[in-house]
Amino acid sequence: MSHPESRTSRLLDGIPGSATVGLSDRIAALRSAGRRVVDLASGDPDADTPAPVVDAAVASLRAGRTHYGPSRGTAELRRAVAQALPVGVTRDPDSEVLVTGSAKFALSLALQALLNPGDEVLVLTPAWVSYLPLVRLHGGVPVPVHLDSRDGFRVTAEALTGACTPRTRVLLVNSPTNPTGRVLDAAEVDAVVRVAEEHDLVIVSDEIYRHLVFRGEHRSPAVAAPHRTVVVDGVSKAYAMTGWRLGWLSGPADVVSTALVAHQHMLSCVPLFVQDAAVVALTAGDSYTREMVETYRLRRDLLIDILDGADGLRFTPPEGALYGYLDVGGTGLEAGPFAARLLESTGVAVLPGGPFGAPQDDHVRVSLAVPTADLTTGLQALRTFVTTLPAPTPSGARR
Ligand code: PMP
Repeated sequence: MSHPESRTSRLLDGIPGSATVGLSDRIAALRSAGRRVVDLASGDPDADTPAPVVDAAVASLRAGRTHYGPSRGTAELRRAVAQALPVGVTRDPDSEVLVTGSAKFALSLALQALLNPGDEVLVLTPAWVSYLPLVRLHGGVPVPVHLDSRDGFRVTAEALTGACTPRTRVLLVNSPTNPTGRVLDAAEVDAVVRVAEEHDLVIVSDEIYRHLVFRGEHRSPAVAAPHRTVVVDGVSKAYAMTGWRLGWLSGPADVVSTALVAHQHMLSCVPLFVQDAAVVALTAGDSYTREMVETYRLRRDLLIDILDGADGLRFTPPEGALYGYLDVGGTGLEAGPFAARLLESTGVAVLPGGPFGAPQDDHVRVSLAVPTADLTTGLQALRTFVTTLPAPTPSGARR
């Protein structure tokens, strides 16, 4: 019997697995081999899910809420989502909100609902590791728009316009941004909206970090362009609920109802007890999120205190999200070897920037979502590590 050269999908051919998941697996392997690892790579909040949220899930389970639920999400949760949207955004909970299994899945559904084969999607890089692969998985062509670290990763209309072609359909934005920690300001959001209007694009706005802002304020393009913006969000980061796998998308009814068809065939619904718990999180006002932001703000200050002025490191203090994004180019090492040598010699794990899709691999990401004591130990070890590296050669040659 003859076998085809490959019997797996060409669509997935060459798409790497998630770099963040891969590094977590490597850290787990090192730990089980007895190595002490300080994990500054994870994007999973160290806090526990608030107790009342857990209690609501347990009560729901005990009440027998263990069957299929409404595909679109429970009416209570869709109402809570609609009421918790950013100021200035109004959505009808019955036709413009879809609750699904995580923000990652919501993003997938949004892309599935919008893309035809070969459609181009502008992705601002450095970008979260899943954007480029997800666009390809859904038949689209990701078009990276490289933002310049020397310009503070600012988004400009010129950069966006320069990347548009007649095939461009979607502009994917994420603020606060993983991995750079940027929060787009009013001029940048205006630029996004303006280019989307001019080129008739749909904006997919990933707002999973919108509560986690230290400087400036979060602005959603959905305020100015509700008819062409789909917002992706979820409970993972702001409520320390990563393991619950609950997210949603909100946007124009035609996109949401198309996404609903894909959701129905792939997932049916999110568990009812998870949705019941999420209602408690979302209707608690800002009491949970305020505490989280304060914790992360203190850690961000710690990052600045410990790393400011360190040899060979440059960084802009994070304005939001959960990450510091460090330019290690001045140490003479590229990000990959830098992270590998740091892990080997100090046991501190950071994520090298390559998978974030930027052309130059000079950055590593450190997470603020780790216990403060670990963050302190890890950052101090990182600082000591860079001081032990020999000075770069005058030609700037890589080691
Ligand atoms: N968007 C961004 C920018 C993220 O960083 C993450 C998680 N790291 C997600 C979406 C996924 O969130 P969820 O846990 O809801 O899938």
